[in-house]
Amino acid sequence: MITNINVRSSKRTDFIDITKEIQKVLTDNNVQSGLCYIFVPHTTAAVTINEGADPSVKHDIVSYLNKLVPLHGGYAHMEGNSDAHIKSSILGNSVTLIVEEGKLMLGTWQAIFFCEFDGPRHRRVAVKIIG
Ligand code: ZN
Repeated sequence: MITNINVRSSKRTDFIDITKEIQKVLTDNNVQSGLCYIFVPHTTAAVTINEGADPSVKHDIVSYLNKLVPLHGGYAHMEGNSDAHIKSSILGNSVTLIVEEGKLMLGTWQAIFFCEFDGPRHRRVAVKIIG
């Protein structure tokens, strides 16, 4: 079974906390134990796990990625969004989490972020539960 989560980004670069939505998939399906595979089927977006408590952390990640991969960098791709493709590959398109006692196993400060690099757009996140 695959559950799709709809995400709406509001800026060109946007980190959206989707932890509650992913947990809801487990709760709705009464999953107690197993693996939760999260996949982003887009070439200019990504998914990552990082600090969710202090918003300055995601700000620093975005700001560093923008320094590393500027919007205009003499790229060959004609669409003009090569920076977004590169950032997507750097962060990656999937994460796998352990599910135990009906809950995602995350560290105290960890959250799951959908990472938009070419928004604003409507996006999709696919969740597959194995267990
Ligand atoms: Zn492109």
